[in-house]
Amino acid sequence: MKSGAHSGKVEFKPMEELPATFEMGRFPKSLGDHVTINLMFWFNYFHIEARYMEQKKIRIYRFRISMRGRGSIWRKIDIRGDQTFGDLDRIIRISFNLDTFDHLSEFYGGKQWYRSGFGSINPLGEGEGADLRIDSIGLGTGSKIGYIYDFGSETHFYVTLQQVLEEEINEDNFPRVVSENKKKEYYCSDCASSGKKTIASMECWACSENAGKLVYLCGKCAESEKHEDHLMDDIMN
Ligand SMILES: [Zn+2]
Ligand SMILES: [Zn+2]
Repeated sequence: MKSGAHSGKVEFKPMEELPATFEMGRFPKSLGDHVTINLMFWFNYFHIEARYMEQKKIRIYRFRISMRGRGSIWRKIDIRGDQTFGDLDRIIRISFNLDTFDHLSEFYGGKQWYRSGFGSINPLGEGEGADLRIDSIGLGTGSKIGYIYDFGSETHFYVTLQQVLEEEINEDNFPRVVSENKKKEYYCSDCASSGKKTIASMECWACSENAGKLVYLCGKCAESEKHEDHLMDDIMN
């Protein structure tokens, strides 16, 4: 009997000529082996899957940060647990319109920053306290820490952990501002004294100290002779 080009002669290949993968197939030998292999496979599958899921879930810390003495000025900021206080410092500076090229800052626990500081942070995001991870100091919902910006002017902020969210996220735009106070409009004190209503953009520190309240100025008045040697800042809002 003939089929195609082959004669009736059947060629058997010896085991040694089988591909390597087949050689490995000496196992399984029995039904028991099959069951073992299957169990191992599924165990590994779920184990890896579970670990993968775990890795995708990231802890997000939601902080509310408000200015001491001016509580109406606040930001809510989301930051990942594996990010650092250097990262938090950076977004506080940006979102509150503080300096990003000058002045040191520091986070602290308790009430006295100079005793319980986590280490200073410079505007480049370096310094003793910069590499400390957010999730490394045992913060829980409601935890309060402090933040001081600029050891000269000593602007203090309250930093309260409002929530720890465990989320699956793919995007990486953290830290980020999730909400903030409604911006107010302030009018220039100098213009007001001559009956004009002008939107202010600056705060004059020297005049504020003399007046015992914040003195706001428009850009034009801020440059006038009256305030020549006065320290000023952009309006905090
Ligand atoms: Zn003015
Ligand atoms: Zn002034």
